[in-house]
Amino acid sequence: MVASQLIRLQILLDGDNTLWDTNAVFARAQRALLRELALHGWRVGRLSLARLREVDGCLASRLNRKEYDFRVLARALMYDAEGRAPGEALSSAVSGKRNAGEEDIIRRGVEKMEVELRRIPPLLPGARALLAWIRAQRGKGIVYAVLISEGDRRRLQRIVEHHLGDHGSWFDEVHILPSKEETIRRLVEGAGSRFGGRVKSLMVGDSLNGDIEPAAKAGAITVYKPAEFLGKEELAVGWGPTYTVESLVEALGILNSVLQDCTWTEAHGSAGSEHGSGVRTLD
Ligand SMILES: [Mg+2]
Repeated sequence: MVASQLIRLQILLDGDNTLWDTNAVFARAQRALLRELALHGWRVGRLSLARLREVDGCLASRLNRKEYDFRVLARALMYDAEGRAPGEALSSAVSGKRNAGEEDIIRRGVEKMEVELRRIPPLLPGARALLAWIRAQRGKGIVYAVLISEGDRRRLQRIVEHHLGDHGSWFDEVHILPSKEETIRRLVEGAGSRFGGRVKSLMVGDSLNGDIEPAAKAGAITVYKPAEFLGKEELAVGWGPTYTVESLVEALGILNSVLQDCTWTEAHGSAGSEHGSGVRTLD
């Protein structure tokens, strides 16, 4: 066994709003809907991005995925702008359509949202340097990199291909799932047996509850970079991050020092991991 075959640090990376700015794409789409409504006279002071997100959050918590769509959101905004009470605005939006002219405005607004949502989110500052550092450490055999993302597989493929080309040169595994928590737990808890017991895991993410808590519970070092649009989330059950950073540039400094701190005296020993070097996309 040579040192280059040993895994010392498994790094789990969240994608949306950690590596790339998904929020910017959503904000553009939401503003496109607001502009279309404003074009047709829905110029009520309450119709702001912040208000849209409030209404959207209420709808998302109240409706399942089949019930929710952007037309319901647009209707709810119209009712809200008319001064209906929040609960009534949501109920009316779900239960029925507006008149034909207003439904036409809604259709056009939703089409404009969908155009915006097809845009590729930009990488966040420091993401490329962080990924380049990880790739260099992978090349030495001391880092194993996993990308974890929620949502649509094709969307993630487009983002990665656009910014990075072949994902295999950057990540050892890519997981795209409706929910990340179980995967994070499985990867962290299983790391010891997968890599011969000589691995630390580290999670970098923007969601305290979605990324940091499951990783911390499973025993990983955690680097929390709060998403700007969420602000710092309230910690639900006391699983705080090991580190909180303002940027990926700062996160890279931490990764570097964590790697330096790993004391693997058996780096040239004989019981290292025999993991393969190919990319595995498991889900
Ligand atoms: Mg995220």
